Amino acid sequence: MSIGDAIVIGSGIGGLAAAAALAKRGRRVLVLEQHFRLGGLTQTFVRREYTFATGVHYIGGVGEAPGPENQFGRMLRWLTNGRLRFASLASPYDIVRLPESNSRSRRRERHTSRG
Ligand SMILES: Cc1cc2nc3c(=O)[nH]c(=O)nc-3n(C[C@H](O)[C@H](O)[C@H](O)COP(=O)(O)OP(=O)(O)OC[C@H]3O[C@@H](n4cnc5c(N)ncnc54)[C@H](O)[C@@H]3O)c2cc1C
Repeated sequence: MSIGDAIVIGSGIGGLAAAAALAKRGRRVLVLEQHFRLGGLTQTFVRREYTFATGVHYIGGVGEAPGPENQFGRMLRWLTNGRLRFASLASPYDIVRLPESNSRSRRRERHTSRG
């Protein structure tokens, strides 16, 4: 270690973004992670034939248009040298179908839209 080197605790998106930003500015960075997998809440896990997301499903503020609302996307593109690409979500983008609970409720749906 020398002055200017950095140690980042945790390899979630916050830790990795900080580490990548420091490395891009020429710092030597050590990322320490307690789990056997990197990524924190960006990770997935599998049970039987199903894959579950632990956290991040979709993110906002990553459009291409200039302006403060897309700052997050510009930062991610800077961190990844433009390699990160995003796909738009349909609207509504969440549809939850609950099983029939009685004869009167045939199907209930919850739609979520970004407005
Ligand atoms: C169910 C759920 C759904 C979500 N959905 C979305 C979504 O759709 N869109 C969105 O933008 N956000 C979503 N979020 C929020 C988003 O996932 C988090 O805000 C973000 O991932 C947090 O990143 P982080 O790096 O701060 O922390 P984390 O991803 O939690 O990473 C922290 C890491 O640090 C490690 N760590 C902790 N303590 C130590 C230690 N002492 N030593 C070593 N390692 C350590 C942990 O093991 C972990 O890997 C969701 C969160 C949850 C829980």
